[in-house]
Amino acid sequence: MAEGDTILRAARRLDAALTGQTLAVSVPNPRGRAAGVERLDGHRLERVSSHGKNLLLHCGDLVLHSHMGMNGSWHVYPRGARWRKPRRSAWAVLAGERQEAVQFGGPTLRVIPAARLARDPQLARLGPDVLAPELGPDELIRSLRTDPARTLGDALLDQTLVAGIGNIFKSEACFAAHLDPWRPIADLSDDDLRVILAAARSLMQEAVESGRHTYAVYRARRPCPYCGGWISARGQGDANRTTYWCPRCQG
Ligand SMILES: [Zn+2]
Repeated sequence: MAEGDTILRAARRLDAALTGQTLAVSVPNPRGRAAGVERLDGHRLERVSSHGKNLLLHCGDLVLHSHMGMNGSWHVYPRGARWRKPRRSAWAVLAGERQEAVQFGGPTLRVIPAARLARDPQLARLGPDVLAPELGPDELIRSLRTDPARTLGDALLDQTLVAGIGNIFKSEACFAAHLDPWRPIADLSDDDLRVILAAARSLMQEAVESGRHTYAVYRARRPCPYCGGWISARGQGDANRTTYWCPRCQG
């Protein structure tokens, strides 16, 4: 699953390649035609933004909303270069002067009128973006506390509480903060929540800059890097997403 760091990187890549340019749009795959992506043809890309795991391409009166889910991706190529995936599988091809952005797969690709963006139901329900530079921790803490009975690991994944954290950074941030992912939010102090959110943000920012994920506990097949004990793994929350943690260091 692409988490907030991957989406922010994609947003920056698309921004550098295409912002300010008039888009020539083609839609090789029927899925892109169903999404109405061709309506963007001839529009100028004004900016690219991200909110959590959602990518938004602002093109005047229209906005392209993309969520990559487990298997979606955006590629950027010089125009005319060979792609790493077959042309027919592309849902959207947005060509600028020298480069083109190509979108493949994922749960969401749709065109929204810009006028409706602020009250779009899918986007309006998102919590504050953990990677938003202007956000202080208090707003994120307040949002997490709206569901005090939820366990920490489960709450961190809920995009309506905090947007951008996925299964990797859920486990990694709890480990870095030395907090037990199974404790309910109500049990944690504001300082605890400040530490966990700062850990998530700094680990994700590192990944934005490096483009790499390095894991301390996620999918661990080795002992805890601090204490040498066993890393535990168990499904958590309604979606039963696996959480990895060190019971000794995070007990
Ligand atoms: Zn440990």
